Amino acid sequence: MKPLQIGIDGPSGAGKSTMAKILSKRLGIMYLDTGAMYRALALKAIRAGIDTHDREKVSSLLSDTDISIEYENGSQKVILDGEDVSDKIRTDEVSMGASAVSAIPEVRVKLVELQQKIASDNPVVMDGRDIGTHVLPDAQVKIFLTASAKERALRRYREQKKKGILSKSLEELEKEIEIRDYNDSNRAQSPLRQADDAILLDTSNLTIEESAEKILGIVRAKGFSDAL
Ligand code: C5P
Repeated sequence: MKPLQIGIDGPSGAGKSTMAKILSKRLGIMYLDTGAMYRALALKAIRAGIDTHDREKVSSLLSDTDISIEYENGSQKVILDGEDVSDKIRTDEVSMGASAVSAIPEVRVKLVELQQKIASDNPVVMDGRDIGTHVLPDAQVKIFLTASAKERALRRYREQKKKGILSKSLEELEKEIEIRDYNDSNRAQSPLRQADDAILLDTSNLTIEESAEKILGIVRAKGFSDAL
């Protein structure tokens, strides 16, 4: 039997990484946060003073960039040219930069290749924007996770407040989420869209536990048990 592959796609702030982490723990399988890779490249561009929309400059930066993933106690670390940048890639500036670099075809080709390599032969849960449509087209479980922009902004607001890194109003966060949704859904290369065989899950009115249970139910219905 082919190793279990779960792809979770959806817009920013829908709770994809929270769900993927829970599934990874409950099922004992590897978790890959693909957005972190686009974020790492955006961080490098920002540090180098390169406009993250500049296809030529970002592409040439790419050929000189090493992005890898390591795991420590089950959590993912993103390594950019030997430096652990896992925390540094979580700023709003890097979020917007990641959205820009991810629209560049050369960037997607290289990072998708890397993602497919990491996933080969291992049961995996991956979250992103194009996992079900492009990175893992044969995944047995595909989820398209969504929630209203208002709810997603509110979640981000609470998360940033809790971490003490809140620098924007709720309205500003909602605006940024809408811009990223627009960019991600309207780019020419692998735009965000629900795969034909993906199951839509709107978490606007669900708790984290309820959402996770729903996905685990889908995994079980496909014949995979909790302990793989
Ligand atoms: O998921 P996260 O918010 O960390 O992703 C950052 C950005 O990277 C997204 O806004 C999106 O533009 C891009 N991305 C992508 N394809 C993926 C994962 C992320 O285009 N598989």
